[in-house]
Amino acid sequence: MDLMEYQAKELFARHGVPVTLGRVIEDPADAADAAAELGGRVVVKAQVKTGGRGKAGGVKLAATPDEAVAKAGEILGMDIKGHTVHRVLLAPAADIADEYYFSFLVDRANREYLCIASTEGGVEIEEVAHTNPDAIAKVSIDPATGVDDAKAAEIVAAAGFPVGAQDVVRKLWDLFVAEDASLVEVNPLVKLGDGSLEALDGKVTLDDNAAYRHADHAGFEDHASADPLEAAALEKGLNYVKLDGSVGIIGNGAGLVMSTLDVVAYAGEQYGVKPANFLDIGGGASAEVMANGLGIILSDKQVRSVFVNVFGGITACDAVSNGIVQALELLGDQADKPLVVRLDGNNVDQGRKILAKANHPLVTVVDTMDGAAARAAELAAEKGL
Ligand code: GDP
Ligand code: MN
Repeated sequence: MDLMEYQAKELFARHGVPVTLGRVIEDPADAADAAAELGGRVVVKAQVKTGGRGKAGGVKLAATPDEAVAKAGEILGMDIKGHTVHRVLLAPAADIADEYYFSFLVDRANREYLCIASTEGGVEIEEVAHTNPDAIAKVSIDPATGVDDAKAAEIVAAAGFPVGAQDVVRKLWDLFVAEDASLVEVNPLVKLGDGSLEALDGKVTLDDNAAYRHADHAGFEDHASADPLEAAALEKGLNYVKLDGSVGIIGNGAGLVMSTLDVVAYAGEQYGVKPANFLDIGGGASAEVMANGLGIILSDKQVRSVFVNVFGGITACDAVSNGIVQALELLGDQADKPLVVRLDGNNVDQGRKILAKANHPLVTVVDTMDGAAARAAELAAEKGL
């Protein structure tokens, strides 16, 4: 899960990283009070999960509370690289003497962690890598020893940061480990007029695999910006990703679903038809899981046909077929789009018999994956006309 700046800063504060929390608002009218409370001169910052907000006009200084209202009004509702701004952060305008770049990340190729740091901060690090690569320090971190005092000193010296930065580096490392982050980036980490350091921006990615040991991280989920179908699927514990197409896809096993997407994309090419989603219902496809999955896919207005692609394993094809039949009963009138079903594997004959006997008007059984993909694409194309 990626965090927004204000959420990253909450974590910074919890771990003693110098930061100013400010206030988050959703209504421009609230900016006047917030700005007055923060001392008048503030910076108004779009809270969206993408970088380059400054360049896009999503970070603006305001000298007075009235101006803060005007700037908040300009920024709220703005679209930044496809992200709608629902919230802005107001923080006291900082007196910046210098801007640095700092990050910890996972270096998968070398099975280590990596620290990237530069005194050329404030701009995108990719740009610095291009124009002034010598200004970027890369320090590898052994996962067994982490960042101790010696490593912090090495990082600060390599980057050319003031010696006082060691303490901030240690605290950011504590956060990185304690919160199970896979990325912590501060750009800019600023030196203020008085020589002290402050994290002026923050980007944190938390490892969802570790969510079970961080009950508090659930509070960071952004329900307002999430796709409503994805949010509904998450609530039902389904492994669903919305895509921009018209053939709904259900399968069991991530690998099978991925190849189903490929086959449907290929079959649909001639009609301009594409897969509408990724949905893996996993091994134990009970009728309820099938109904939940079908329910989500059928409520996607873009969907014109559905391809159910199942390879019977531990959950055999007959159980899946019963699941499909019961799911269609459960859904009733809500099921209103043609379903193409391809079954193979364990108990495939019994599975096909069950579907044949049910003889549901919406269901077509096709024996091969390519054939079923072609039929589903064709149905979506017909319905799209
Ligand atoms: P990003 O563009 O999405 O990375 O957003 P940042 O939070 O990094 O802000 C972009 C730039 O705006 C920073 O590099 C700073 O130069 C400037 N900025 C952000 N906050 C302040 C502030 O409080 N005071 C001043 N003077 N500039 C700021
Ligand atoms: Mn930034």
